[in-house]
Parts: sequence; C-alpha cells; structure tokens
Amino acid sequence: MSKKTFYITTPLYYVNASPHIGHSYTEIACDCIARYQRMKGEDVFFLTGTDEHGQKVERSAEAEGKDTLKFIDDVVEKFKELWKGLGISYDDFIRTTEKRHIDTVGKILTILHEKGDIYQDEYKGFYCTPCETFWPKLQIEDNLCPDCGRALEEISETNYFFKLSKYQDWLKGYIEEHPDFIKPDFRRNEVIGYLQEPLNDLCISRPRKRLSWGIDIPFAKDHVVYVWFDALINYISGCGWGSDKKTFEKFWPANFHVIGKDILRPHAVYWPMMLYAAGIEMPKTIFAHGWWLAGGEKMSKSKGNIVDPFALLKKYGQNAYRYFLLREVTFGLDGVFSEDAFITRFNSDLANDFGNLLNRTLTMVEKYFDGAVPDEGAMSEADKALDEKIAALPDKFDQSLSALNFNQALVAVWDLINTANKHIELSAPWILAKNDETDRLKAVMSILLKTLSHCVFFVYPFMPDAALNVAGQLGMKITDKDMSLDKLKGPLLAPGSKVNKGKPLFPRIER
Ligand SMILES: [Zn+2]
Repeated sequence: MSKKTFYITTPLYYVNASPHIGHSYTEIACDCIARYQRMKGEDVFFLTGTDEHGQKVERSAEAEGKDTLKFIDDVVEKFKELWKGLGISYDDFIRTTEKRHIDTVGKILTILHEKGDIYQDEYKGFYCTPCETFWPKLQIEDNLCPDCGRALEEISETNYFFKLSKYQDWLKGYIEEHPDFIKPDFRRNEVIGYLQEPLNDLCISRPRKRLSWGIDIPFAKDHVVYVWFDALINYISGCGWGSDKKTFEKFWPANFHVIGKDILRPHAVYWPMMLYAAGIEMPKTIFAHGWWLAGGEKMSKSKGNIVDPFALLKKYGQNAYRYFLLREVTFGLDGVFSEDAFITRFNSDLANDFGNLLNRTLTMVEKYFDGAVPDEGAMSEADKALDEKIAALPDKFDQSLSALNFNQALVAVWDLINTANKHIELSAPWILAKNDETDRLKAVMSILLKTLSHCVFFVYPFMPDAALNVAGQLGMKITDKDMSLDKLKGPLLAPGSKVNKGKPLFPRIER
C-alpha cells in the first residue's frame, strides 16, 4: 500500500520588503506540522514561496533604483536565508514569476472565461494619480485619497470581473456543511458574516498602461492579472495542476492552508470560488492564525516597533526562537511579543526544566554508572507512574498537533519533563547511591533516560536542532531521517551504551 500523503502550504509572502516576525511565525508553524507528519510516516509536501507581482513591488524596486526582478531576487534571498537559519524543511519554494506558475494562471483564466465566469465591464472608481490607486466610494471621504490626502479623480475603465456573486450561495452551504473548512471557529463565523451581505464581483484585471508588472491575461491583451488572483493559484501550480497530473492527484487537496488572519477573505472567499468554478476539489482546512503585536499594537515600520527576525535569531538561536513563538500563544489568537517574555520563557522552560533534566540525568549516569546506560533494575510504583506518563504522551501530543494546537502539545511534553524532574527530587538517587541500593538506582536512572529519549521525538518538530543535540548527548545515533514515531515502539537506548554529555544546551540568559 502506498503511504498516505499530507500537503501543507504557507501563504506566498509578498516581496515588497524583507521578511518580518509574522512571516516566520507561519513558516515555523508549518514546518513543525510538516516534520511531525513525516514522523508519522506520511508522504509530506510542504510548499512555501513568494508573491512577486503588482504595483507595490514595482514601486519598491523603483524607490531603490533597482530593476524589478533584481530587486525581487534580493528579497527572495533574504527569505531563503531566514528559512535556512530557522531550519525550515520546505519541499518546494515557488515564485509567482516562474513559468510553471504563469502557465497555470493562464490556463485557469481561460477555463473560467470560457465558462462565462469572467466578464468584461466598466469599472468606475476614484483614482489617485500620484498613488496610482483606485478607491471604492465606500472607502473615501470628501473625494480625498485616504493615503495621501490629495484630490481624487472619478474615472472609469474597462476591466475583467470574476463572478463571485454566482457562487455565494454555494460557498455559504459548503462552509455550513464542512465545519473544519475554516479554522478556528471564530474565523469561520467571520467568513459566514461576509457572506450575509451580497458580494460584489471581483475585479481581476489591471490595465497594462497603469501596471505592467503582472501576468498576461490570455484573452485581454491590454490587461494583466490582479495580484491576489494570481498568487492564490500557487497552491495548485506548486503541486503540478495542469502539468504533472500524477503529483497533483497525489497531493491535492491540501490538508492545510495556513495563513495570517489579515488574508482570510481572499483565502476563504475568493479561492474556494475560483477552485469550484474551475472544477477543482476544495482544500481540507484553511487555518488563520493571529498577529504578533508589540505593546498591544500591530508592528509597523512607521511606529518603529518592528522586531527584526534576523537579529532575534542571531541573539538567541533557532531553537529558542521556534520554541517561543509556538509555546507562548494559542495558535489562532494574537500574541504580544516582548524580549522580556522571551527570556522568561527561555529560562523557565528551556534552561530550568528541559536543560536541567538532561544535565542532571547525564551527570548522575556518569557519576554512578561510568556513563553507561544501566539496565531497568527494580522499578518502584513511582517509576512505573512515570513510565505510564511516557506511554500516554503520543496520543495527547497527536490530538493537540492535529488541531494545530501547538502550545497544548508542548504543555503535554513539559508535563512529562516536570514530572521527571520531580521524580529526581523524590527518589533522591544520591541517597540510593550512598546506601548501595544499586537495583533501585538503576531503575530511577533508566526511567529518566527513557523519558529524555522519548522527549527527543516530541521536541523534534518544534526544535529539530535541539532534539538531535539531546539525542547525541544520550548516545542515540539518529539523524532527521530516523525521526519516525515507529521507533518509540522499541527500546531507544540499549543498556551498556555510553552517554555523551555535552555543554549545557540552554544556558540561562542573564538579564
Ligand atoms: Zn494618494
């Protein structure tokens, strides 16, 4: 039998500026899920990439006096550099300026046009010439540009529209019948809210005379595609629709489109309708996460409160960065970023709890057993209770992570870690050693080592680098490829094998 498949996507990040912490949040979350699904033996496809068309990109390039594609290439390098630093294990990186994507967009447009779902019409609006932006009547006051405050000109131009209105009732019904289609539930309700009001058809073209940096529309030579319509299609162009039938059928429909809450509407309204109109199956779940705020506000350049992901990574490293973002806040809700909270979390969970458990255990194995893993010895009730906790962890962890409940999954792992720390206090191995209770000492040390060796697997999706480091210190000879949950069925550490205590993995950060 062939393996089950699992397809997860990040949004395509817009390349008008360097990556920020929000981009890295989505990326880390998807990486954690992708790694965990691989551990479960699924054939995983993890797609990420960049959205490279539209006026903002064109203008940002102009502002830096660079050729547009050169400007984009430089930003793409920044994204890739950050993903490398954060240990992101994507399977493909798609750029919307690639031929495979452009061809797919053309094909989808042609299908929808031939079906009569794309039509031409006059578009009336208020235009700001210096900003080169159209404003709908609802968004303006006193005929002034909301961005620059200059007077607007009312103009009309020919454009192409996609019939959202035709599919509104269908989408409403679909969302009602599929409770997992949009998550979390309060976001689903938000989308149901959008659909209570009649939807305007979506303008999907821009006249070439105003915008040249876009994908051609096969049936409209004077127009290019609106950037959102183009970018969403990556989720199918990136997995072979229209070019590689085998791969497409293997991975589509996607299990998760993970997005930020600010882009819920295009993903939960436009995208399903585009797919449905083109006769393509729906993705299983669109999950919108919250924002990282700074002091209660959205991070923005103008407020000067942006957290630089490169600086954070350099200062604290990949493991702490990944751990903090996924542990601190329930996925789906907003979180407040502060370096103070970061350090507190690091010192308590990583230095104190996990780091100490490793360090103390290995120190004792060296001291009492010359660094060799002891055999099971004579287990007490308390040892057995810890063993039961180890056995119960996989199910708890799976339930949480399957629902993208990252912090709950970590709470379950840390519950085990803290129980093991308490077990050291209560069983006092130093007294057992002093009293020559070797069989008991063996039992305590071996259950502690077992706890740590199991933690390696559950920490791995969150902090792959730290997990492999711990594995190395425990003397487990494993790499990324060995990270399979099947391994938990057998013994992970053979009695007699040597541990290999290293430097403290998470030294306390002094403020
Ligand atoms: Zn303006």
